[in-house]
Amino acid sequence: MREIEEEIKNCRKCDLWKTRRNAVPGEGNYKARMMLVGEAPGKKEDEMGKPFVGKAGQLLTETMEKVGIERSEVYITNVIKCRPPNNRNPTRGEIERCLPYLRRQIDVIKPEIIVTLGNFATTEILKMYGFVPHSITRARGRIYRSPLHNVAIIPTFHPAACIYNPAFIEKFEEDFRKIAEEYIKIKEKKKSEL
Ligand code: URA
Repeated sequence: MREIEEEIKNCRKCDLWKTRRNAVPGEGNYKARMMLVGEAPGKKEDEMGKPFVGKAGQLLTETMEKVGIERSEVYITNVIKCRPPNNRNPTRGEIERCLPYLRRQIDVIKPEIIVTLGNFATTEILKMYGFVPHSITRARGRIYRSPLHNVAIIPTFHPAACIYNPAFIEKFEEDFRKIAEEYIKIKEKKKSEL
């Protein structure tokens, strides 16, 4: 994983390197059972070179803690590793060039749960595993179990959307309670196998 992170930091596969301050490969536990995937770094993330360290990140960290998930236990990353200027939507070309990094990160971590944050990550991850992508309002709260891979994909809102629309916060927490339940099940299964 360190090699992948280094490659990302030096990546020039698309033009986003020209406007970034720092690429944001991801951070967390390389042995995580759960991965969280967002869209792309924002301003603060670009400054710090770390994912979800701005306002949306604070809400995410607080919500995880509320349901008993430690941020340091999981691995957090984004579909796109460099900030698009003015937080514009990533282009298809940027997505295609960047996706192999996420695929490799998933291959290394082999998470049993992938939490997708928001529409963008949900679409890309569901497609990656052969699911027909659903919009976030339809997909959230559902658990997509891949028949080919030992992984459960659990979509929820993007925390930035919750800041924008506080009515989502309750649902975001509800989703995270479900995520925590699934996560505890996996950890207990692992323990009983030891
Ligand atoms: N929004 C994202 O999708 N990712 C981050 O890392 C920060 C904000």
